[in-house]
Amino acid sequence: MTQVYGIFGYPVGHSRSPAMHTRAFAALRIDAVYVPFAVAPERLEPAVKAIEALDLSGLNITLPHKTNVIPLLHRVEPDALAIGAVNTVYREAGQLVGMNTDAPGLTRSLLEAGLSLRGLRVTVVGAGGAARASVVGLARAGATSIHVAARRESSAASLVSQLTAAAGAASLHTLPWRPDALAATFASTDLLVQATSATLDDAPAAAELTAALPLSSLPKHAAVVDLVYRPLETRVLAAAKQLRLQTIDGLGMLLHQGAIAFEKWTGREAPIDVMRAALRD
Ligand code: NDP
Repeated sequence: MTQVYGIFGYPVGHSRSPAMHTRAFAALRIDAVYVPFAVAPERLEPAVKAIEALDLSGLNITLPHKTNVIPLLHRVEPDALAIGAVNTVYREAGQLVGMNTDAPGLTRSLLEAGLSLRGLRVTVVGAGGAARASVVGLARAGATSIHVAARRESSAASLVSQLTAAAGAASLHTLPWRPDALAATFASTDLLVQATSATLDDAPAAAELTAALPLSSLPKHAAVVDLVYRPLETRVLAAAKQLRLQTIDGLGMLLHQGAIAFEKWTGREAPIDVMRAALRD
C-alpha cells in the first residue's frame, strides 16, 4: 500500500520539502507520497492524533509548530528536547517520536563543504531556534568554543545557560553586541554562523546586520555560513566573499536535514543529488 508522509506547518505552501522527498521516493522506487498539510495552531493536537489514526508513516514539522508539538508526542530525543524544537516525527514500536534533524543537517552540510569541525572556534549570530540547533549540532561535532551574539543580549544569555549542559565539552559564551567585543571575538573565530532571519529576502535588515558584523576582523582561513537560503547569496555571504572568506549557503542544511529525516523514515541512504536538484529547481 502507498505510504503517506508529510509536513505540518501553517502556512505550508512555500515549503520545498514536498518536492525534495517526492523526488527522493521516486528515485528509490519507494511507493510513497509526501503531502503538505496546512495545520492551524488550534488544530495541532487533533492533527498529531491523526498521524496514528491515518497511519501516516512520518512527518516533518515546521513553523509555527516545532515547539508546541513536543508535549503531544510519546517521546522526544534528548537533543531535540534541549533545542526545544522537533522538525521530524517518526514511528517506533507504536510510539510517535520527535527528533531534530536541523542540528546534524547543519554539521553534515559543513563537512560536505570541506570543513573540519573538531576543535573549531565558532561564533553564532542570533538566538532563535536555528541558532539553538546550530549550537547543539556544532558542540556534538566537536567544536571547542561557541560564542553567541544576539541584538538582545538577554536572549543570547538565556540560550547559553539553557544549552550549556547539552553542549558537553564545548564551552559556550555570551558575546556582547558591541563593535569592540564582536571584533575581538571574530578575530579568533574559525566559523561564523549567521542564524538570524535578518538576511531573509534581502530585507533592509540584511544591510543593517551586515554593517553591524565586523567581518573584516575574521581570520583569512575563516568560513561563513548563512542558514537563510532565500536568497542563496545573502548580503552577509556577499560581503564575506568580497573579503575572500569561504562562504556556505543555507541550502545544504535544508538538504541534509531532509536527508537525515528520509533515512530515519525509510532505513535507506538518501539520494542526495536528486534531493539537491529538487531543491534547486
Ligand atoms: P527565530 O524567529 O526563532 O529567530 C530569529 C532570530 O533572528 C532571533 O534571534 C532574532 O532576534 C534575530 N533577528 C531577527 N531580525 C534581526 C535583525 N534585524 N538583526 C539582528 N537579529 C535579528 O527564527 P529561526 O531561528 O527559526 O530561523 C532563523 C532563520 O534561519 C530563518 O530565516 C530561516 O530561514 C533560517 N533557517 C534555515 C534552516 C535551513 O535548513 N537552512 C533551518 C531553520 C531556519 P530577536 O529575538 O531580537 O527578534
